Amino acid sequence: MALLQIAEPGQSTRPHEHKLAVGIDLGTTNSLVATVRSGVTETLPDEDGNHLLPSIVRYTEDDVVVGFKAKVNSVDDPQNTIVSVKRLMGRGIEDLKTLGEQLPYQFVDSDSSVPKIKTVAGNKTAMEVSAEILKKLKQRSENTLGDELVGAVITVPAYFDDAQRQATKDAAKLANLKVLRLLNEPTAAAVAYGLDSAQEGVIAVYDLGGGTFDISILRLTKGVFEVLATGGDSALGGDDFDHAIAEWVITQSGIKNSELNSSSIRLLMQEACTAKEALSEIDEVELNIELGDNQKWFGLLNRETFNELVDPLIKKSLMSCRRALRDAKIDREDIHDVVMVGGSTRMLRVRELVGDFFLHEPLVSIDPDRVVAIGAATQANALAGNNPDGDMLLLDVLPLSLGIETMGGLTEKIIHRNTPIPVSRAQDFTTYKDGQTAMSIHVVQGERELVTDCRSLAKFELRGFPPQVAGAARIRVSFQVDADGLLHVTAREETSGVEAHVEVKPSYGLSDSEIETMLRDSMEHAVEDKGLRNLREMQVEADRVIEALDAAIADDGDSMLEADEKNSILEARAVLVDARANATDEQLVKQAMESLEKASANYVARRMNASVQTSMAGHKVEEFSSEESEK
Ligand code: ADP
Ligand code: MG
Repeated sequence: MALLQIAEPGQSTRPHEHKLAVGIDLGTTNSLVATVRSGVTETLPDEDGNHLLPSIVRYTEDDVVVGFKAKVNSVDDPQNTIVSVKRLMGRGIEDLKTLGEQLPYQFVDSDSSVPKIKTVAGNKTAMEVSAEILKKLKQRSENTLGDELVGAVITVPAYFDDAQRQATKDAAKLANLKVLRLLNEPTAAAVAYGLDSAQEGVIAVYDLGGGTFDISILRLTKGVFEVLATGGDSALGGDDFDHAIAEWVITQSGIKNSELNSSSIRLLMQEACTAKEALSEIDEVELNIELGDNQKWFGLLNRETFNELVDPLIKKSLMSCRRALRDAKIDREDIHDVVMVGGSTRMLRVRELVGDFFLHEPLVSIDPDRVVAIGAATQANALAGNNPDGDMLLLDVLPLSLGIETMGGLTEKIIHRNTPIPVSRAQDFTTYKDGQTAMSIHVVQGERELVTDCRSLAKFELRGFPPQVAGAARIRVSFQVDADGLLHVTAREETSGVEAHVEVKPSYGLSDSEIETMLRDSMEHAVEDKGLRNLREMQVEADRVIEALDAAIADDGDSMLEADEKNSILEARAVLVDARANATDEQLVKQAMESLEKASANYVARRMNASVQTSMAGHKVEEFSSEESEK
């Protein structure tokens, strides 16, 4: 099944028809743009020869400055110089509270759920800031290539949720840039190495940047990439390696932490970073450091000591790898290739231990800073129709399960996490009450059994379907996740065709660390959740039984029930009501329900007979026999 067709079959491109399309790595610290020219994929430099564009935007009263020129001012004009805007994409006011202290800018108090940053040029959303970076890269491409772009493939982290992906698309729209596709960063890296035309197999993409670590497990079959699993650690990156060196220096020098002021700490961190990067080339570095008031420290750091310092950090990343392999249900031995992404994979020790872990020499021949942009460009070229055999399919996975709320506040998962996208799945639901003509649909995301432990994405109502007895209506709820990871939900009552739908664009997003927390919680609470789920289900069942009984008694209780029988039924009912409200164990509710069923068995049987007689009046028995057998 061709899920995503990138080029029309038989379509070829003559040189003058070559359409200009670029790949953009829209990064937290740096962004890049790349394109395919005369069959070669390369990143495009600015007029000064820089390939990297710092993802920094500075607003002045009459101008917007992006990149290195903005970076110069990040220290003396922090309020108008926006850095790391990627972390704000798709985030709501609430999310900012958790990021708050790390951000130097002022946010405007507004009713809008989209936060705005206060600058001298007015209030700016994250999308607007990000759009400035995209505009700059678009301009760079058009200047270099001498023509207008037809569009771009923009990469996003594999863990980006709907809101973050949508925000990225909105930013592109503001930059007047057509998005051919959002592509997951690891998938782009695998494409850069041409693994899409390589031997079929499973690929690991190991991305160690400055502050974060991401691991993705991809499978390639018949030219189709499928992301089997993603994982990582949002608080592990090159900075931690700098820290490890800095701490070692402090221990070696014997200086007390309290004697260090903030500027000497910053200097120390810078020295540590320089030393770390040098050790990727040479065996030993000299450290010449000013510590506090006129204190100097000189020392040598060799590779052996460095390795001892950083091994625990690398091993931590390998634990995430182990988890991702488990999620993907893949053995280490089954990994065919390991792709290295991110500046920190230049560290020799990282390459060595990653190689040992995956039992494979990792791929490092493409600059780890550019590899994502290069893969995105390759993909953009195919999407623009420049590649006649570009029938490459790219599939990504959902980071968290998607589902809806059912009776009792339970979640019913419709698409499970790590399902490759695009995907569409449907499930049938029914009404709970007689005569019900509306149903509210609550879309949630997460792994836990209870809705309150998951994240609410959207709520909408399906209204105006014909009233029927409880359980008769068939409501089909369909979930569709498109290639960009955006979710569309449709609910349709099948007999009447009444339909309602919602496109989920939640106003705030989840960070990867939150996703990780949600996953960890779901594992930790799995047993407890299962118990709670059973209890909730039993409670819903109890409600149904009580409601049906009450309706029956109201209907014919007076004529059909003797006082004694009625009393024992009501007693059993009271026990059930109590158990339903107070029991913490589903068994107690179940027992109470069985007692009530026993107490009311005769009454129920009499009612059934009566109703069968009424409905059969005037008909022959044979007329019913065929219908009976269907039941
Ligand atoms: P991010 O994706 O988080 O923006 P990058 O992929 O650009 O980060 O990686 C930045 C990190 O890579 C920094 O911690 C930097 O010190 C580290 N790095 C860059 N070059 C080297 C090198 N030669 N050796 C070791 N680490 C390096
Ligand atoms: Mg990166």
